Order: sequence, then structure tokens, then C-alpha cells
Amino acid sequence: MTLLRDLHLEPQTGTALIVRQGEWLEIIDPEGEQVSDLISFAHDDRSEWLSSGRTIDYANTIYLTVGHVLYSNRSRPMWTIVEDTVGRHDFLLTPCSPEMFRILYKTTGHHPSCFENLARSLEPFGIAADAIPTTLNVFMNVDVLPTGELRIQPPRSRAGDRLVLRAEMDLVAGITACSAELSNNGRFKPIDVRLHGDRAARAKTPRSGESPSGVPATPASE
Ligand SMILES: [Zn+2]
Repeated sequence: MTLLRDLHLEPQTGTALIVRQGEWLEIIDPEGEQVSDLISFAHDDRSEWLSSGRTIDYANTIYLTVGHVLYSNRSRPMWTIVEDTVGRHDFLLTPCSPEMFRILYKTTGHHPSCFENLARSLEPFGIAADAIPTTLNVFMNVDVLPTGELRIQPPRSRAGDRLVLRAEMDLVAGITACSAELSNNGRFKPIDVRLHGDRAARAKTPRSGESPSGVPATPASE
């Protein structure tokens, strides 16, 4: 497979890109203990979205790893996890947002957030902020206590750890380097994203909505 895209997300930023069926999306934590929120929409109908509920229902676990399929709200496979060097990710919690920082952490003033970064990055693809559902929070470490209480712990990822997903349909994907202190053990770090695939196959399927360079109009960082 060929390296098609090599993106570096600065701390507290996000981006969006088109991923074709059969391509592999590699999400790398270059420094360790950093979460990356991932969301996706069907390329051909953006009212079809990655569903936490469907995925957990069919996997019968909240701890998703190699071999698990991530489903859409229409119960179609969107991704399969093909490599996972960490083994702990979260698919229960929504992306951090301005409202979350206000309600949970009483933050005053503007705080960067995954939700805003995803909304800004997905807008050029015709996806509205209100359409963003629960994200797959890659490397996020959430313990579930016997009482049902959730405890957000530092990510288990170390420098160079990665999650690799194979796209099962053509997708628009949004990805962040998470902006929440608690999720990342108090320090904001970058995330690296690599897209692998067959360049010959790509040439046959032009990507509508992408600029000639393949880079969406929105920059990866602010
Ligand atoms: Zn976040």
C-alpha cells in the first residue's frame, strides 16, 4: 500500500478528509497520552453517520479493538479495526465542546474543543454541526465502575502507539487532537494521521468536494 496522505494535527486542532473504501486510516499518538476524536459520514449520503449505539450493540462490548466493525446508523459497516497497539478507546462520550467545558468544568471564556474543530473541518463537506454524533475517542481511557460511574483516566497510549482502521465504504472523516485537559493527562499534544491505499484505484475515483491537491479548504490547524 502507498502512503496517500501524511497529516500532522497540532495540539487542540482538527481536520477532515475523504477516505475511500479499502483505504487504511492510521491514527498515531506521537508523544503518548493524547486522545483523538474520530467521526465519519457516508461520502454519498451524509445523513448516514458512524453510530456508537449500533457498534456497541453488535460488538456486545464497549471496548473495541482489532476485528471489531464500526457500524453506521443504518447498520452498514463503515470501518474495521485492523491494528491496535493500545487496546483501550472510548465510544460512550461525545466530543468535548464549549458547552461541556462550561457545564462540567465551569470554564469561563473560550476553550478550544473537538466539537468546534470537527464542525469547522466538516462544514466544507456539507455537514452541519448538529449532525455530529458521539465520536470514537481513540486512546481515551474511561473506566466503568460497578456502580455505572465513569472515571476518565490518562490514556494508556505511549509515544508511537496507533490505531488503524480499514474503510468499508467511501467516507468523509473528521479527526482531532483532543482539547480536553482531563482526557489527555493535563497536557495537549499533536496527533499524526496517515492514509494508506492504492494510488491506482484512487485515480479512477475522483474525489468530489476535494481540492486538486486533495486538501480540503479548511486548514488542519488554526
Ligand atoms: Zn476533545
